[in-house]
Amino acid sequence: MSFNDTELSGYLEIFWQFSWSQWLMFSLITNVLLYLFSIGMYLFIERTCNKDVLQEKDHPVTKSDFYLSFLTVICNSLVMLIGVFLWKNGWIELGQKYSVKAVVLEVIALLLLMDLLMYFFHYMAHLPFIYKLLHGKHHEHISTNYLSLFVLHPLETIGFGLMMLVLLMGYDFSVISISVYLIINLIWGTIGHLNREFFPASFDRFFVGTTRFHNQHHLDETKNFGFYTSIWDRLFGTYK
Ligand SMILES: [Zn+2]
Ligand SMILES: [Zn+2]
Repeated sequence: MSFNDTELSGYLEIFWQFSWSQWLMFSLITNVLLYLFSIGMYLFIERTCNKDVLQEKDHPVTKSDFYLSFLTVICNSLVMLIGVFLWKNGWIELGQKYSVKAVVLEVIALLLLMDLLMYFFHYMAHLPFIYKLLHGKHHEHISTNYLSLFVLHPLETIGFGLMMLVLLMGYDFSVISISVYLIINLIWGTIGHLNREFFPASFDRFFVGTTRFHNQHHLDETKNFGFYTSIWDRLFGTYK
């Protein structure tokens, strides 16, 4: 089984023809929709899931969180535009392997590599002077809410995006793998900032970065720097 590649190249051709103003619109609309999807999903799970509560009270949603989360959406759009620029200029090439097996392998590679890169950058973001400047705002949320995932300093958002673009320059991932990875990233981030556990307790044993895992990082900032998995924290002795 494989995705229909002639049809896909047809779509890519349409995107290739986009003008910059069309790209600007496209990236803003896509990122606003993803933002709304995350908030909707968060609220839906909060209301319907009756699993263990990790922290009794949600962090209050403030006006400044709203502004900052919207700035994150703008930064994500900017990263997308940089990606398009790199693609149009041949720095990023899109792979053509569309078989299910190839996509699964590429997505796993993206998840593990990004998890490792994020581990190091997240660890560095907790060095006192960088923390004060960049990452402290995210940690004002000790318990979390539906905006916590997006309450980031613009440089954190752009840094995350650039990290991914560097990986895309290093290997020709297909557009399907990249999209699947980005959707998993969004869903993971949304679930990771719930105040109730979403995953079965046994998942912790399988190195999954569960909600409990990231929630613990908000409670104890010296532990759990990874995101999708607990592999790197276990390896480097920062797992809790
Ligand atoms: Zn942190
Ligand atoms: Zn967090």
